[in-house]
Parts: sequence; structure tokens; C-alpha cells
Amino acid sequence: MNWLTNYVRPRLRALVERRRVEVPENLWHQCPACERMIFHRDLDANRRVCPHCDHHFRVGPEFRFREFFGEAYEELELPRVPVDPLRFRDLKRYTDRLKEAQSRTGAHDAIRAAAGTLGSSPAVVAVMDFAFMGGSMGRAVGEGFVAAAREAVRRRAAFVVVTASGGARMQEGALSLVQMARTTAAVQEVKEAGLPYVVVLTDPTTGGVTASFAMLGDVHLAEPRALIGFAGRRVIEQTIRERLPEGFQTAEYLRDHGMVDMVVHRFDLPATLARLLDLFMRPRAEAPAAPEPAGEDGGRALPPPAPEQDLEVLDEAADD
Ligand SMILES: [Zn+2]
Repeated sequence: MNWLTNYVRPRLRALVERRRVEVPENLWHQCPACERMIFHRDLDANRRVCPHCDHHFRVGPEFRFREFFGEAYEELELPRVPVDPLRFRDLKRYTDRLKEAQSRTGAHDAIRAAAGTLGSSPAVVAVMDFAFMGGSMGRAVGEGFVAAAREAVRRRAAFVVVTASGGARMQEGALSLVQMARTTAAVQEVKEAGLPYVVVLTDPTTGGVTASFAMLGDVHLAEPRALIGFAGRRVIEQTIRERLPEGFQTAEYLRDHGMVDMVVHRFDLPATLARLLDLFMRPRAEAPAAPEPAGEDGGRALPPPAPEQDLEVLDEAADD
């Protein structure tokens, strides 16, 4: 039981204790980066970014939906799955932990999804909630992700996922690991439908989520200084017996080494996403528009258009 008492129990305790700090009763928040105090209204007005040091606080699904869609979005009903297949119990029953997380966050599990218009493109956005059991991926998150991906295909919409996860949900054992394969297959369905799949990596994105759908995007955006990795820094150092470079596993480090395309400030995220989706979606949206017959040929059947004409049509479309 050494592994459980030495490793699992402290981790669980740390999770629970951190949660307590995250939901303070008072009106002031302490920035975990610069340790200065911020009045809660100032923090909200600044989109939960520290006005002193630019630290991006963790935010939940509702915040993201409003940022991306404004008020006009439709939250998707995600499938319910049978809970606690292994009847898992550590310090508490898994079912009790779930109930506690559900009552605290008001969500069914660690993922929520909504559909709407992002910029000028139809989009389905799935957002993970780190406040729900560390954003861990069990069957509910896997099923939710698959359902959201399929809804994007059904609506011919772009699929955007905002990740935040400690990895697989250990209380579901191998069933949580299977979700890595399931979500990967769902990403493939989106790609086969010719629709864009964009990942927004936020602090922290680790473990089985990094090892599956979080790294399969057509484009990877990340919030500044977000922790993104598979295993923890200490575990890697102990395994390879080497010191890791400064800034290892941050968004900026991964961008400099090719795993992240852009590090985007939270203020710029909606506009950046809108621009990207517009680039991905526009040619497809305009392709079916038949070229208008030029001249006064009346009902005469038009000869097949010459290649130059095709180009002109594309030029006109691009000017719109
Ligand atoms: Zn700060």
C-alpha cells in the first residue's frame, strides 16, 4: 500500500486543499504568481487575468462560452454514463467525490459543450473544467467529447476544445485509459468530415489528455505560461536522471519547440479563434455557390468554364 499512502493520498489531499483556496469566502484573491491581492471585481473585469503580473487564473466552461459566443449559445446535452463501475474507494467513495464536485460546480462532469457562432463560423466548443476533480478524464469526459465532436460534424461546424486536465481519472482505472483511444477516433471523424479541429491548451493540461485529443489539433493555441506536459517534471527528472531546462513544459517552451503554434493572451483569444475558423471555413462555405453566367447567353447551355474563369470566380469570392 506504500504507493497509495505515499503518493495517492498526498495528491488527493493537495487537490482538496487547493480547492478550498480557490473558492474563498472573502472578496479578495491572491495571485498565485505575484502573490498580490486583487479585488474580486477587478479580477472579473480583467477577465480573470492578474492586473499586476498578467497571470491567467483558471476559468471554467461558462466563462469560455461567454467569451467565445457572447450570450447566444446553446449548451449541448452530453450523455450520462453509469458511474463508479469499479466501486472505487480511497479516503472517500468515488460516488461521494462525484456528488461533491457536481454540487460545487453545478456540472455533471469535467466537460461541457456548447454550440454557437464564433466570429462568423458555426462552432461547437467543448471546455474542460479543472475545478471538477482536476479535470480528470473518465467515461463521462470521453463520452462528452465524442458527443460534442459528432455534433460538430452533424452541424458542419468547427470543433474547438479548451483543455484543462490532470489526466486520466484513476477511480475508473482502465476504463478511463480507453477514453484516449475513443477521443482520438472522434477527432478523426471531425477531420474526415473536412472540418477544422482547434485545441486551446490552458493551465494545466497533462497526462492522458495531453497524450490524446489535446495534441491532435489542426492548430494548437495556448494561454501564456500554461503548464502543458505528460508526466510531472519531478517524475521525468527522476526517470532520466537529468535536470530539465528552465521553463520546461510551459506554453512558451512548447511553442519554441514546435508543439504549440501560438501563445495567445486571453484578451485576444476570441478574435484569434474567430480569424482562424474563418480561414478554415470560408472556402468551403463559398464553394457551392454556382458561378453566375456572364453575358447575355439566355438559356443556352454554357460550355465548361475555362481554368481562367475559375480563377476569376475565386478572386471575386476572396474580395467579399
Ligand atoms: Zn499576479
